Amino acid sequence: MIGARFIGLEFAAGARKRGIAVTVFESGDRVLARAVSVETSRYLAAAHRVMGTELQLGEGPVALEGHEGAVRAVVDTGGGRHPADLVLVGIGVRPRDDLARGCGLAVEDGIIVDEQLRTSDPAIFAVGDCARFPSEFGGPLHRLESVQNATEQARHVARTTLGAESAPYMRSCPGSGASRARSPSRSRASPGRATTP
Ligand SMILES: Cc1cc2nc3c(=O)[nH]c(=O)nc-3n(C[C@H](O)[C@H](O)[C@H](O)COP(=O)(O)OP(=O)(O)OC[C@H]3O[C@@H](n4cnc5c(N)ncnc54)[C@H](O)[C@@H]3O)c2cc1C
Repeated sequence: MIGARFIGLEFAAGARKRGIAVTVFESGDRVLARAVSVETSRYLAAAHRVMGTELQLGEGPVALEGHEGAVRAVVDTGGGRHPADLVLVGIGVRPRDDLARGCGLAVEDGIIVDEQLRTSDPAIFAVGDCARFPSEFGGPLHRLESVQNATEQARHVARTTLGAESAPYMRSCPGSGASRARSPSRSRASPGRATTP
């Protein structure tokens, strides 16, 4: 398994339950780094190791070896060769933001929106995986790849455009609960605020 995020870890857990040997390669130094705290990463990594999953953290594979159209091994950055008969890649997505960019909207690894999910053109909103929005804890804008976030943002925009919502959309991480209302007087994030992945 290449990638230790939701898809990678879900697959690893399911495969281990069926007794299949699994090695997870993650180029970052911890599992689910974009979604959970360091402590939660440690807890989850330990739980997966107890299940028998081999976790190779800080180690992205550099090559896949194959024969007659079938993969046979993964080669890691240290030159180690790991025999494999199936390799799955779950390393996230890049948002298709070229249409928004072409329309002149502020874009940086996603369409930049403010606390009301408005783009740099106040008549246009963006929601879902492609929207980069402010965290309730401040800091950099972020994107979430989750069904719940996409549907909650869509509802929020529907309410806003119908005049039934004036509070900011706030959601810090998957599973943190419904979007929360804050004082409307709180200043809006500038759509041009600096972002990090
Ligand atoms: C394998 C996999 C498993 C996942 N499992 C989970 C899970 O268990 N739980 C969870 O919460 N999330 C999961 N996700 C993430 C979840 O699918 C996304 O977060 C969610 O679908 C985002 O919704 P969206 O509407 O923003 O984008 P999408 O669902 O990607 O919808 C965007 C749509 O817009 C279309 N489109 C793009 N450009 C244009 C254009 N120019 N014109 C017209 N149409 C266009 C695309 O073709 C697509 O149909 C999973 C994702 C994957 C890939």
